[in-house]
Parts: sequence; C-alpha cells; structure tokens
Amino acid sequence: MLMHERTISIQRGIFLAVTLVVCILVGWWIILQIRESRQLREARIENLKAGRALAWQMDSLRLLAITYQPDPASRAGAIVGTVPKLPSLQERTWVIETLYPHVAVVPSPLAEDDPPLLDKAAYLTLRPEPLRAIEKAQHTDIIRAASEGSFLALVVLIGFGLVYRQLAEEMDLKLRQHNFIAAVTHELKTPIASLQVWTETVFARTLSDEQRGRIHDLMAKDLGRLEELVGNLLDVARAEAGSLDLHPVPLELGPWLRTVCESMDQRMGTGVMGLKLELAPAVWARVDPKALATVVENLLSNAYKYAAPPRATTVTLDTDGDQAVLVVSDLGHGISPKELPRLFQRFYRAGDEMTRGVPGTGLGLFLTREIVLRHGGTIQATSRGAGLGSTFAVRIPRISAPSVEGQDR
Ligand code: ADP
Repeated sequence: MLMHERTISIQRGIFLAVTLVVCILVGWWIILQIRESRQLREARIENLKAGRALAWQMDSLRLLAITYQPDPASRAGAIVGTVPKLPSLQERTWVIETLYPHVAVVPSPLAEDDPPLLDKAAYLTLRPEPLRAIEKAQHTDIIRAASEGSFLALVVLIGFGLVYRQLAEEMDLKLRQHNFIAAVTHELKTPIASLQVWTETVFARTLSDEQRGRIHDLMAKDLGRLEELVGNLLDVARAEAGSLDLHPVPLELGPWLRTVCESMDQRMGTGVMGLKLELAPAVWARVDPKALATVVENLLSNAYKYAAPPRATTVTLDTDGDQAVLVVSDLGHGISPKELPRLFQRFYRAGDEMTRGVPGTGLGLFLTREIVLRHGGTIQATSRGAGLGSTFAVRIPRISAPSVEGQDR
C-alpha cells in the first residue's frame, strides 16, 4: 500500500515536473519570438528611415547642384554661368513623394527626428500607414507565436496527461488485484482452517449426537461459504469472457423476491438484517431467476456486511413506466460520493478500515452489474454519505403478465 502510494506520488511529481518544464520551455520560446519580432520591427523602421535619409540626400544634392555651378576651367573654384531658378517646394515635394512613397514633406516636424530640408523649407517625415503596417505585423507575429506555443504545450500536456492517466489506472488495477488476491486467500483460508478443526474434532473425540449435529451445521456453513466464493469467481470469469449464460423466463417478481429475501434472512440469522419488504403486486419481467437471485443476495449480503446492528434493510419492488424497479437500501456505513462511481469496478473495495475489516473480494457488485446489464437493465448506487446508509436501485424492463396459456407480451 505504502509502496503504491509512493509510486503514485513519484508519478505525480514527474507529471508536475514535466508540466513545469514544458510550460517554461514554451514560455521561453514565446519570449524569444516576441524579442525577434521586436527586432524585426526596429529593422523595418530603420529601413524606412534610411529611405527618408536617401530622399533628403537626393533633394540636398539637387539643390547643391543647382545653386553652385563650378567653372571646370577655374583652378580657384570660381562659379560660372547664370544661377538657375530653384525648383518650387511643390515640385520638390512631388519628386520626393513619388520616388519615396513612405516619405511625406510637411511644414513642421511630426516626429522628434524628422530632418529639415537643406534650405529648411520643410521637413521630411515618415507616413503613418507603413508604420502602422509594421506595428500590425509585429502584433500578428506575437499572437501567432503565443498561440502556436500554447497549442504545442497543450498537445504535449494532453498527450502526457493521457499517458499519466493510463499509468495511474494500471497502477490502481494492480493494487486492486493485489488486494483481491489477499482477500480471496483469506476467504479461502478461513473456512478451510475451520473445516480442518471440525474434521479433527469429529475423528479425535467421542461426541454426543447433539454436538455432532452442531458441528455438522457449522461444517455445512463453511462449505456453503467456499461454494459461494468459488461460484462467484467462476461467474466473474464467465462475465469477463462474455459467456455468462442466462435462461430468462417470465417471472412475477414479488413472490419470487419474497422467497429470495426470506431465505437470505434465514441464512444470515433470522431478523439480524432488520428486513422490511414493500413489494408491489403483479410486476412481471423476463429474467433468469437464479442469476437475478445472485443480484439480490449480493445486495442483501452487502447491506448486512456494511452496517452495524441494529440493522434496518428495506427491499422495495415497484414499477416506473415500462421498468420494474427493485431497491435495496440500508442504514449502514454509507459510501462517500467520490467512491460511488467506482463501486462496480472489478476488485474495488471502498471505504476506510472499518469497511476494509469486513470480508469481501470486491467482485460482488461487478458481477451484480454484469447480470443486470445482461437483463437489459441498469443499476445505480446512491448514498447520502459516509455513515448515512446506501441505496442500490436495479431497473429492468418489465413485461405484462402472461396470459393463461403462459405467453408473455
Ligand atoms: P465486497 O466483496 O468488498 O463486498 P462488492 O463488489 O460487493 O465487494 O462491493 C464493493 C465495495 O462497495 C465494498 O467493498 C464496499 O466498500 C462498498 N459497498 C457495497 N455495498 C455497500 C453497502 N451496502 N454499504 C456500504 N458500502 C458498500
């Protein structure tokens, strides 16, 4: 048990560590992507600014070329010819904005680093549209990186979670099998040891008829216990192999249920179950009486095992639409809500040590459910919680009472 718990906590630790590592890696990857997209944005803006500088340079060179006409013959660098007329600002603007579409000529600077033209006639600024496009591209890059990263992390974690769940289930099944083997061994050993003692007593001592009779009854009880256990194990094996053979016949459930409950009451010790029957008349179903008796016996045996005296067990039979509803309820230990969904699993034994001290193999409810399912029915367990009793409701399709010739619906 301790070993199992340690393995489970190691598994949980590994799962948490892997989750953490995956989250850190993905987070780191997203940060790198954001950093990269920021660098890309800066490079794109620098590129625009380089274009603006080229526009400035082109305009300045043109101005210089027009303003100064050096005399190629003059060694002193004299200026010759007539000074041509300067192009208008409108014409210069047209040239700049045509050759450099992302640059605008404005009368006053719009950004801190907008350079003035050489003659300070106007300023060059970057148009807002390409800047906005760059911002948008960066935004898209960040969203893409974040969603790709999250998707990747999700896929890895879901995959890992599935593997983890599978492992945990296998581990749990292993533990339940381990408990089952221990329980079966105990269940077999106790009646065998008791039979051994009675056999030795019968052969070693001279006994009165009354003593002989008592020992005979006790031996019969032990043999009955062994027979029941072996029968249950065989039924479970058949149920698992899908070869649980049923022989359904039309049956009036009320009288049959009374007989099953009364014989169970006698077996347990008359009155110890505090049995109360509330059976609606004329409820018919097509069932295998022997198999369905196993269902009722298992539920009654549990109601007895998992309750302290004085017990109060109620068996009701009623109808709900086209279903027959058979309910066994007790006021015993009850079942906690988190254990309810697992009760019908193979080898599962719920509860604390109080219920674990009770003999059992964890197969009764599994077999019970298999039989009910094979009848086309359902079984549901409810409990108001630990210490507040339990209720098991079996629903099977009902038929109308067969006619005198003995035909069902
Ligand atoms: P077992 O051989 O342990 O009785 P079952 O399959 O019949 O196996 O029951 C599975 C578990 O369900 C039991 O170990 C017990 O913890 C719980 N259980 C079943 N019936 C009752 C009940 N009437 N009251 C409380 N707990 C119950």
